[in-house]
This record gives sequence, C-alpha cells and structure tokens, in this order.
Amino acid sequence: MHLPTVVMVALVINLLVGVYLYLLYRRKPKDRCFKLWSYSCWWFVSGASLVVLRAYPVPDLLSYFIADVLLLLAPVYVLAGLVQFSRFRYTRRRRQCAVGALVVAIVALFLCYQQPGALSVAVSLAIALTFCLCAYLLFKSIIIEPIFTRTLQTVFVLHAAVMLIQAALVIDNWQHLNLHGLPEISVYTLLSHIMLTTVTALLLPWLSFLKLERQLTFKSQRDGLTRLANREHFFNQLERYWQQHPSVPAVFMMIDIDFFKTVNDTFGHAVGDRAIASVARLLSKQLRSNDIIGRIGGEEYAALLIDIDESTATVIGQRLCQQVAAQLQFIEEKKVELTISIGLVQIIPAQHGHKIAFKAADEALYASKQAGRNTVTLGKINTV
Ligand code: GH3
Ligand code: MG
Ligand code: MG
Repeated sequence: MHLPTVVMVALVINLLVGVYLYLLYRRKPKDRCFKLWSYSCWWFVSGASLVVLRAYPVPDLLSYFIADVLLLLAPVYVLAGLVQFSRFRYTRRRRQCAVGALVVAIVALFLCYQQPGALSVAVSLAIALTFCLCAYLLFKSIIIEPIFTRTLQTVFVLHAAVMLIQAALVIDNWQHLNLHGLPEISVYTLLSHIMLTTVTALLLPWLSFLKLERQLTFKSQRDGLTRLANREHFFNQLERYWQQHPSVPAVFMMIDIDFFKTVNDTFGHAVGDRAIASVARLLSKQLRSNDIIGRIGGEEYAALLIDIDESTATVIGQRLCQQVAAQLQFIEEKKVELTISIGLVQIIPAQHGHKIAFKAADEALYASKQAGRNTVTLGKINTV
C-alpha cells in the first residue's frame, strides 16, 4: 500500500462527500446537520493537509496546533450533527458546557503544541472521547434502522479504540518518538483513522434518506387531523399484536361521537374537526402508551387495550365517557355538549380473530347507541 496515495484518495473522497453533504443542506436548509457534517469533512481535509506540511519548513503553530484543532473539529461537527437525530435535549446549559469543553480542549492543545508527543496524546484522547459520545448519541437516535445504526455505531467505537491505541503507542514509545511526536508503528493507527473518517463520511448521507423515509412512513400511517394511527395502520398494528401476543388478553374498544352530524350542522365543520381532534387527544392522554389507538372513520375511533380484563376496561370506558362529557362541553366557546358511546369486548388473540373482535365491539357500540348514548356496553364474542 502506497501511503501517500491512500491519504490523497481519502482526502479527495472526504472533500467530495463534504460537497455532497453541503448540496443536501442547500436543498433542505432546515436540516442543519448536513451543513455541520459537510464542515466536518472539510475540517478533516484541511487538518490532514496541514499535517502533511510537517515535512516542510512551515511554522509549528500551523502544522501542529491548527492542524490538530481542525482534526478535532471534524468529529466534534459529526457529534453536533448527530444531536439533531437523537432524543438528546440540547438545552442552552448543555450547549454552554459543550462549548466550554471544546475551548478547554483547544487551550490544552495550544499549551502542548510545541511538544509533539504530548500534543499527539491529547488530540487522540479528545477525538476518542468525541467518538464515544457519537456512539452514545446514535444509541439514542430517532432513526430506528438496526443495521445502519449498528454499523455506524461500530465505526464510531472502532474509531475511538484506534485513537486510544494511538495515544497508548505514543506513551509506550515516549523515548523513541520521531520529529512529529509519533512512534514508527503508529502508521497503522493513522491509516485506520483516515479510513474510518472516510467510511463515516460515506455513511452519514444515508441518514438523510432514512430520515426522509421515516417522515414519509409516519405521514402514511397517521391521520392528518388527529395524529392517531389511520385505519390501515391501526389494523396492521392489530394484526401484528395478534401474531406476537396470541395468549395475552386484551380488550377491543370502539368509540363513536354521539349525534356528530348535528354538531356539524349546528356549529359548522371547523368546530366538528376540533371536536374530533379533542376526543382523540383525550383518548391518547387517558389510555396507556402501549395501547393501540386509531381513528378508523369520520368520528369513530378504535383501541386495543392490552393485558387488561373486561371489568377494568369497562371502568376505563365509563371514565372516558364522563371525561368527554365534562371536558368537551364547549369547543371554541360553542356549547356543543359532546358525548361518546363505547362498545367493548374481551379477547384472547389465539381464540378470537381480530375481524370477529371488531364486529362484536361494533355491535356492542350499537347497543350503547340504542341504550341512549353516552354509555359503555360490554359485548361478548363466540370462540372460533
Ligand atoms: P350517532 O350518535 O348515531 O353516532 O350519530 P352521528 O350523527 O354521530 O352519526 P352519523 O354517522 O350519522 O354522522 C357522522 C358524521 O360525521 C357525518 C359526517 O359528515 C361527519 N364527519 C365524518 N368525518 C368528518 C370529519 O373529518 N370532520 C367533520 N367535521 N365531520 C366529519
Ligand atoms: Mg356518531
Ligand atoms: Mg359513526
């Protein structure tokens, strides 16, 4: 392997990926992470180019201090971009801490830049720590794509390990360091560093596609008015539950707003829409986060209450009716006096098909309507 050629190829790839990421950012300026990652590529290219200048008579400040600061900024910018993909809350205080830590690291590099060995250890440790943080943030990422996340995480961890080995090699060979503060053997760690940086740069654009895919999938599964699962997604989730938990009892619940046509006719469709969204919000708030809830028709909702018996579910249903009646008397200052009716059935997936459960809950709902509305009816289904 001809080292200068490998370095040149890696630098050119990083430069081009940086341009590509910047173009992505220009297309979607809201995604600032692409700008940060493009800068990360360019910091790396500039830093590595300055390192090459160490072979020539240029000031140490440039080829050591500034070069290493740029090499450190490369993973720091990767980290900053990843913050946008994680559930990490980036508060003002945290930002101040991050900037403070970076300033401390840069000052430390400045203090030891005339001792190449110490500089090399300091920059390696700082880069290793930054890559550990990158792996941690990816662990908390909102992108749930196991293969991709695991690959990128492995690259970050490997990169941190390579930088730690680099620091250990320098310390271990302290008496025999060359002019650049490095032992001869560290050529392999440096090569790995260049390769891993390039692999990271190549993997990062994938996050853009995954993010877009995630947004489109989310949109296609949600109802625009209520943000609940739409009918198709609700039944898909139901099927998955039937397959994955055949023996866990659950309760299928159908919920319908009473006399909704009159609400629309009296107060207009805008108020009707607000009513539909308000009921959805109340359902989401009152049911547990692992229950499956969906809007399956105009003013009809369905829910699968997981791992629950019918008497508890009936109490929950009655509480929902009371809360809608109490909390949604007024919508946009109009006295709509909203109420809901509920039908529910207890099911065990292995014994009852989900279509039969749906039909039985719908019949129970019809019985609630017949009984005068604003009430809950517990239905029964025949075992299949
Ligand atoms: P019941 O108590 O028997 O359920 O009577 P209802 O009037 O609620 O039932 P019906 O099925 O006759 O009326 C449902 C109405 O819901 C008719 C339809 O115009 C209205 N609707 C359906 N989707 C929407 C929507 O997205 N927004 C609004 N504002 N109205 C909707
Ligand atoms: Mg209705
Ligand atoms: Mg209806």
